[in-house]
Amino acid sequence: MTERRYSEPAFDDVMSTVEFRVAERPHITVDSDVCRSCTTKACVYACPANLFVPTSDGGILFNYEQCFECGTCYQVCDGEGAINWTYPDGGHGVVFRKG
Ligand code: SF4
Ligand code: SF4
Repeated sequence: MTERRYSEPAFDDVMSTVEFRVAERPHITVDSDVCRSCTTKACVYACPANLFVPTSDGGILFNYEQCFECGTCYQVCDGEGAINWTYPDGGHGVVFRKG
């Protein structure tokens, strides 16, 4: 039997097929007051799009505009009530295309 191999597409090629339809309403909000007492800052390391940036006062700066809606931040966050996660409004958010 012949082994079939599939080559991974380059990350930049994948990203060039992704579209973000930015909604006016953020579908994720972060309460920086809660984040200040967070010792792990797990969201900073877990978000594949690097959308969580620690601030000098111990809080978090968050940008929802290039969010993949993977839900990882919500899963790893250990700060009660820090992340409010919903889906974007209809017709908005990330659009993945093949090819
Ligand atoms: S893991 Fe949660 S509580 Fe901690 S910094 Fe990130 S969003 Fe804030
Ligand atoms: S849902 Fe995924 S891509 Fe969006 S902010 Fe959370 S970890 Fe990052």
